[in-house]
Amino acid sequence: MASAFGHAAAAWAINNVLQLLTHLPVRVLFLGVIFSILPDIDVIAFRFGIPYESMWGHRGITHSILFAFVLCALTTLMVAKTKKEHLTFFFFLFLATLSHSLLDALTTGGKGVAFFAPFDNTRYFFPWQVIKVSPIGVKNFFSDRGVAVLLSELKWIGIPLLISLFILYIRKFKQV
Ligand SMILES: [Zn+2]
Repeated sequence: MASAFGHAAAAWAINNVLQLLTHLPVRVLFLGVIFSILPDIDVIAFRFGIPYESMWGHRGITHSILFAFVLCALTTLMVAKTKKEHLTFFFFLFLATLSHSLLDALTTGGKGVAFFAPFDNTRYFFPWQVIKVSPIGVKNFFSDRGVAVLLSELKWIGIPLLISLFILYIRKFKQV
């Protein structure tokens, strides 16, 4: 995983970019942030002795494209009312959820991401593994390694987030 902060920041950045095209309510942004962290619920698998490389293990099924699709389709059906809302809410939520796996595939450690589970359990990384992998567990995170992770995320996620906020601000400022 990248850290929970990194994933949440990525969802926020995606929201900011989409806000330039359409209006997304705060409750949908909130869901997107939750969904950007949710795939790591699978770390619980370690407690049950499920191996990392299993489809049910860490970075397995909950990091797949299908998981993101089903989760976001069901949620959209529950929260969207109009046709436009269905389209925009789903698009944002899907991107926010999938951003989790895309970021994980950019990290320096662990095993890759099973994007195509349950059909294919091959684990993938991108050719550029630039984000320092976050230690698993809160206790391990608050260490020197955690600081190194945050610094690396500041560069690869924080800077794009700031740029997205800046563009959004300029755009809103111009509209006033
Ligand atoms: Zn993850």
